[in-house]
Amino acid sequence: MKPVIALVGRPNVGKSTLFNRMTKSRDAIVADFAGLTRDRHYGQGKQGKHEYIVIDTGGFEPDASKGIFKEMAKQTRQAVAEADVVLFIVDARAGLSAQDHEIGNYLRRLGKPALLVANKAEGMREGAQLTEFYELGLGDVVAVSAAHGQGVRSLVEQALGQLNLPEPEEETLDDVEKAPIRLAVAGRPNVGKSTLINAWLGEERLVAFDMPGTTRDAISVPFERNGQKFELIDTAGLRRKGKVFEAIEKFSVVKTLQAIEGANVVLLLIDATQGVTDQDAHIAGYVLESGRAVVVAVNKWDAVDDYQRQMLERSIETRLSFLKFAPLHFISAQKRQGLGPLWASLVQAHKSATCKMPTPVLTRLLLEAIQYQTPKKVGSYRPKMRYAHQGGMNPPLIVIHGNSLEHVTEAYKRFLEGRFRKEFNLVGTPLRIEMKTSH
Ligand code: GDP
Ligand code: GDP
Repeated sequence: MKPVIALVGRPNVGKSTLFNRMTKSRDAIVADFAGLTRDRHYGQGKQGKHEYIVIDTGGFEPDASKGIFKEMAKQTRQAVAEADVVLFIVDARAGLSAQDHEIGNYLRRLGKPALLVANKAEGMREGAQLTEFYELGLGDVVAVSAAHGQGVRSLVEQALGQLNLPEPEEETLDDVEKAPIRLAVAGRPNVGKSTLINAWLGEERLVAFDMPGTTRDAISVPFERNGQKFELIDTAGLRRKGKVFEAIEKFSVVKTLQAIEGANVVLLLIDATQGVTDQDAHIAGYVLESGRAVVVAVNKWDAVDDYQRQMLERSIETRLSFLKFAPLHFISAQKRQGLGPLWASLVQAHKSATCKMPTPVLTRLLLEAIQYQTPKKVGSYRPKMRYAHQGGMNPPLIVIHGNSLEHVTEAYKRFLEGRFRKEFNLVGTPLRIEMKTSH
């Protein structure tokens, strides 16, 4: 599971700037959804072999009536609770304030791994100007400049270094073929996740078994269905009680993100009686960004009338248009309707996500596509695509080699994507295309 790093500190110390440095540039679509978590922002980053999740508490809007301190304290506590390691940001130029002391005291009492970070330290000589921060009693001060990107790599390294992370294992194509399909069921509270999972586990064709060594509350259930092994991975917002699952009220973005990341295939559940909510779209944005295979199921189809069904189909078309590649199912977990075809889609999505695409086939498809429609000339450049190979899977990645490929338009990439998708019968997985220009 990816470790979680929280950024806390009073307003204006540079948390958001640091957050942007620590997270990869995100998909435009996902960036739009980021605004939906009003209070805390969640992003993902990678350094060396290690991937991590970052929480920024900078996004909240101070409510004058409640008092900025109170709100900040609340945001800080929630982010800290979710984090494995905390970065406490102070302003190297402004020096210590009463608020800094308050946060510092809180963190010291808590005893969670934390690093004190003095931001805006560009052009400063460590030592003299930073000594006052030792007053906080949090040990060494790490000087960085988020705006200039100085010291950020080393900061992330130190943060991850606090956690004794295991070396991530490289997965090969063969590993994935033999391993069970890791499945995560994602969705807001009350969409019917536990009802669906219990319906599955009650199915005759499905054999649940306990893995040795797993604790009773660990929500990771291996099972077999029609000879295919699955592993239902820790699904946020559920608790296992003996043999049945029950929902817990709290919705955790971090848990949802971790479940999505840990899965091969994500089943995104939507509640037919509620329509597509902001939170649904937000979760869908994370699924897209993760590159996981995805199937969308609208649950409680039994509880809506024809008019609601029409409205729903329209709102899915508009609000989840960026998941067009995902198969869509209408089900009733309670009445156990539509579950068979849903299984078929989940298996098919996994197959698509782990599909092998041989270089000769890819290259032939590429050359055929070019013959059908040549990429446009941009200025005096005409992109010259020469061959293609598979650079990864889950999501499948096709790397195209040639010259002047930075001039290939988005529209042309979509055209290529369509041709590749059709040939390999890819459904339920994003397909990524990367252009590699050799000079
Ligand atoms: P937040 O409220 O803690 O999220 O702070 P922001 O990231 O919004 O930054 C507050 C202000 O500090 C902005 O004007 C930033 O441009 C500025 N800032 C952030 N990082 C640095 C830095 O490393 N050096 C300097 N000089 N300014 C910075
Ligand atoms: P979770 O929070 O996502 O795990 O949701 P639950 O499985 O606890 O379901 C929330 C509520 O929706 C419960 O009252 C369920 O009985 C109800 N529910 C779940 N699936 C269906 C369904 O297919 N149809 C109808 N009408 N209600 C459902």
